[in-house]
Amino acid sequence: MVYDRDDVEGLDASILTNPKVLQYSGHEDTFADPLVDCRSCKSRWRADDLKDHKCPSCNSEDLTRPRPFNLMFKTNIGPVDDGKSFAYLRPETAQQIFTNFKNVLDSTSRNLPFGIAQIGKAFRNEVTPRNFIFRTREFEQMELEFFVVPGTDEKWLDFWVEERLRWWVEQGLDQNSLELHKVEKEKLSHYSKATIDIMYGFPHGLEELEGIANRTDFDLGSHTKRQSELNINSKVKKNTDSATRLAFQDKQTNDWGVPYVVEPSAGVDRGFLAILNEAYRVEKLEGGKERLTLALKPHLAPIKAAVIPLKRNHAGLLEVAAKIKKTLQGLQMGRVLLENSGNIGKNYRRHDEVGTPLCVTVDFQSLEDQTVTLRDRDTMEQRRLPISEVATHLQGLLTPQ
Ligand code: ATP
Repeated sequence: MVYDRDDVEGLDASILTNPKVLQYSGHEDTFADPLVDCRSCKSRWRADDLKDHKCPSCNSEDLTRPRPFNLMFKTNIGPVDDGKSFAYLRPETAQQIFTNFKNVLDSTSRNLPFGIAQIGKAFRNEVTPRNFIFRTREFEQMELEFFVVPGTDEKWLDFWVEERLRWWVEQGLDQNSLELHKVEKEKLSHYSKATIDIMYGFPHGLEELEGIANRTDFDLGSHTKRQSELNINSKVKKNTDSATRLAFQDKQTNDWGVPYVVEPSAGVDRGFLAILNEAYRVEKLEGGKERLTLALKPHLAPIKAAVIPLKRNHAGLLEVAAKIKKTLQGLQMGRVLLENSGNIGKNYRRHDEVGTPLCVTVDFQSLEDQTVTLRDRDTMEQRRLPISEVATHLQGLLTPQ
């Protein structure tokens, strides 16, 4: 988002959030799940998780009526817990993008359309965290707020849906496991004019991976000062606290207006779960053996290459291996490991399991002719290459096609 595009800035803002921000954004009033208690087995559920008004745990129909449960975590500010000085842990990364809008604009002299992207922790006191890392109380979000001229918002929503689908496929998700769901009007969040969810076929079912929303001028309009002068279209709370104009000045007419915003909002953890699901392979080998591989796209592999001397603690082999490791690490394309444990077969299997795309083996022939064996994770093919060509080979592997 940030490095590949020239129209997006990156931001790393705070997690602790002034309650006023989440008051004006509508989170204090509306960021709640309907909660139901089972009187029979005392379990607690999200009302929308229930089928036929029965407790999923004991099947009892003796349930409390749904009541709203706010999902935001609070923490004290200062040494005295008087219940008044508190902050929220941000429930999404988006709000700080809006409150920092003027800072970014002032330091970059951007023109519409442009975006601000942020990746980082978000916290929600989920009633039913479950399905491994699909739903957790502390998770990582990546969000882009793309500010556009009002009237072009629908076009940009379509653009970002296509762009985000393409991106997920580029990370290794099967196009056939992805579906687009248009959120029904009655189910739209308070800020949204239209939302498209990208759904993925997780092992536990088809669920949301990312939401792309047309948030119109709701957010900047909610957080800005002098709301009445800005022709805000959304229904916003009257802001009596803001000290900053969060708007954009037309360079030709000098008029101030609030841009619309289109927001792709994705969960890193959910994305990672989907990618794991695609990449995890169990292969049957000859002789009834099995091979476990994590066939991650090379650019996503946590270790890019392992350099393995054939014999453990052999000074000559180690010296050559350490030089290769240093060269490959110097490419700054990700982590490269030197494995001085001597068991080539075991090392290959371990690196298959964590998804290392390339193993480089240094043997006694390497000391004579300056060549090494490259072993490919997916095909298990081995070939010899001069040491001087290994870096170029790895670079080729790590550059997305
Ligand atoms: P859900 O309906 O599944 O609770 P949501 O619609 O509340 O999700 P958004 O507020 O749109 O989610 O958040 C954007 C993205 O953040 C989601 O698409 C998801 O990938 C991720 N996300 C939201 N809540 C969680 C969570 N509790 N754990 C992990 N990821 C989450």
